[in-house]
Amino acid sequence: MIHVTECPVCNSTAFKSLFICKDYSISREDFTLIQCEYCNFVITSPRPTSGELGRYYASDNYISHSDTAQGLINKLYHFIRKITLRGKISLIKKYSNNPRLLDIGSGAGYFLNSCKQSGFAAIGIEPDTPSRMRSIQQFGIDVHEESELDKLNSSSFDIITLWHVLEHVENLNNRMSQICRLLDSEGIVIIALPNCSSFDARHYQSFWAGYDVPRHLWHFTPQTIRDLGFKHGLTVFKTLPMHFDSYYVSMLSEKYKKSTLAFIKGMFIGLISNLRATLKQNNSYSSQIYLLRKTSK
Ligand SMILES: [Zn+2]
Repeated sequence: MIHVTECPVCNSTAFKSLFICKDYSISREDFTLIQCEYCNFVITSPRPTSGELGRYYASDNYISHSDTAQGLINKLYHFIRKITLRGKISLIKKYSNNPRLLDIGSGAGYFLNSCKQSGFAAIGIEPDTPSRMRSIQQFGIDVHEESELDKLNSSSFDIITLWHVLEHVENLNNRMSQICRLLDSEGIVIIALPNCSSFDARHYQSFWAGYDVPRHLWHFTPQTIRDLGFKHGLTVFKTLPMHFDSYYVSMLSEKYKKSTLAFIKGMFIGLISNLRATLKQNNSYSSQIYLLRKTSK
């Protein structure tokens, strides 16, 4: 296990303990969340080492890497993935019709396949070898291992996407520097993240499925992603809601709580979370998409 001793966002070394979360989906082990005293960034610490992390992903139940449509929640997930994919492609088309696109953490390859079908020049990075191989075989897409990031040419991408990926990345600052190097001066970084300051996160506390320890090493809010971007010369210029995530995450959280009527209760809390974020106009949806570009000097 590794203890995080310095905040990757503000470099502070002062932390307080928040609470203990359980890994409900795979190991059933407990993990502590700590919070930076200065910038409020929430961190899983102590956490497994790089070598140990792999076994926390080794499950067919980890649905972003699996392709089985069993169970109500999983079925719903697959249905919503189709709609979400369409939304992602139309978002990108708003900024470029023919982008050179890099998808970091391309997983099962569905997004890259949609990019390919839209005619984008798109490549992916996926550290998990079985996922990478399967996605290449299934879709015929261009996916590489993580070490390739350092070999790609500077300023060679118009769009770099990280769909629910940055919270899994061990060395945040290193990854952000790589992204800045690879991004064209006019390019856009699209980062989707769970938001631990959302209503559903505050409602479920340690049961909130968006914490997903120890796979999620970092737990962002709109402020902390803005701060991390700023540190690397990137400005968040737009924030978009991911409306479906509040329902999905709330239903999973109810399942972790072993609630009866988990589906109905989850739908209700998900709805409240979305309504509150919409009415308050405070960018506090359960999950959000942040669009960043290089800060003009
Ligand atoms: Zn901090």
